Amino acid sequence: MEQTEMLWQYQQADMAADAMELEIKRDPARLALKKNREFLVEQQNTVKRMEEDVALMVDRVDVIKVAIARIEEQLAALSKKMENEPPADLEKAQEMSKDAQKLLANLTSYEAELQKIQKDASDRDRQEKDIRMKYAKVKAEYDKQKVDYEALYKQQMKGLEEKRAAAQEKTKGIDPELLEKYKTIKQHCSRPVAKLYGDQCGGCNMNLPQASLRVLKNGAKIIECENCGRMLIQM
Ligand SMILES: [Zn+2]
Repeated sequence: MEQTEMLWQYQQADMAADAMELEIKRDPARLALKKNREFLVEQQNTVKRMEEDVALMVDRVDVIKVAIARIEEQLAALSKKMENEPPADLEKAQEMSKDAQKLLANLTSYEAELQKIQKDASDRDRQEKDIRMKYAKVKAEYDKQKVDYEALYKQQMKGLEEKRAAAQEKTKGIDPELLEKYKTIKQHCSRPVAKLYGDQCGGCNMNLPQASLRVLKNGAKIIECENCGRMLIQM
């Protein structure tokens, strides 16, 4: 068999293996599994973020509690002072009242913040419960899908290995230099060998210059398409 014929047959077998590999990658069972895995990871990340929020919230609650206790102490001291040494004049009385109002305003604002934190916490609890329920449901589905898919994948890979071996078998007798060239072109071109149709490249459909065609006419078996870089054969 001629080198060009062997090369062509090898490419057919190589393409068949590539097509199968692509089919395996696009298998609906694989895609469904991937989708569920992504969902599970996303939920895990959300819960992790929530736990970080809870830690921050706990710290903030501690700070607020200390601040509230200090304001309450200050208010008690102020009230004691008013009792023990009542303000001597209106100006002094207004001053003390202003201090008390300021402390009360701070107290109110801290209490409002505490309330908001409590509300956020209960919202978060509800959301987390919801996530955990959905997570458990998808996880059960995922675990089952995974077992099924692993069996299928094993079978698919066995088929692919057979196709790869069949392609390898077809390389027997092909000039190693040609094979090397095939592999190099394949890095940027999925079908490295194309047939010549008239004076057109069967890969990219461009017309070949007369000089290249003359090389073929003069006995060359393989030429290179100047446009796409494929090996062109005449069969
Ligand atoms: Zn071409």
